Amino acid sequence: MSEQVYAIAIDGPSGAGKSTLAKEIAAERGILYVDTGALYRTIGCYVFQQGIDPKDEQAVINILPEVHVDMIYSEDGLQHMLLNGKDVTTEIRLPEISMYASAVSAIPAVREHLLEVQRTLARSHSVIMDGRDIGTVVLPDADVKIYLTASVEKRAERRWKELAERGTPKPYEEVLQEMEARDWADTHREIAPLREAEDAVRVDTSDIDFAASKAALLDVIERSLGER
Ligand code: C5P
Repeated sequence: MSEQVYAIAIDGPSGAGKSTLAKEIAAERGILYVDTGALYRTIGCYVFQQGIDPKDEQAVINILPEVHVDMIYSEDGLQHMLLNGKDVTTEIRLPEISMYASAVSAIPAVREHLLEVQRTLARSHSVIMDGRDIGTVVLPDADVKIYLTASVEKRAERRWKELAERGTPKPYEEVLQEMEARDWADTHREIAPLREAEDAVRVDTSDIDFAASKAALLDVIERSLGER
């Protein structure tokens, strides 16, 4: 890694607040925020559109050459996802795409396909990158590694509120079950399962609000980068 750029890796289960926190911290520090889940979601979106079973490994491998994923940054610094040239930033957030993303992310060829995209971004920019395997696989030499987590009940509660606010409410029990299913899939897949890197600092946001979570992350970042 070049001396001018640095990398902050944030891993953890879905709903821990990684993307909201990382986005704000990136904007404040003037570095690039890379939401790697969006890459898997974009491939999941294509598989969904094609009516392919996301667990059918060979079928997914067959369509990979047709999937062109681009990440572009709008003037406000927000990350937009392009699927074969079409902006799918909103579609990839649909709950059904979450399961597709999780399923396709267990396929080694999909991970391989996206590995270089992620590493290239980190070579040329200072980044805060969030995902499941950033500190363990994608950027094992990251300058800062954080494992951001919270109890599954708290994460489900936050997602449940978010869905209601977005006008797409769902019963809490259903959100909790989906969260548990995704946790299980992400931690039990054979390739690059979600796990805490040995040298990561764990931040648990179960009992702290957004402001306190952000302060905790900034503290870890500034200490790790030798700014305090
Ligand atoms: O973070 P997000 O919920 O958007 O990620 C969608 C799915 O993509 C996750 O459930 C996970 O299976 C997968 N993913 C991954 N590796 C990453 C980021 C996301 O496997 N680095």
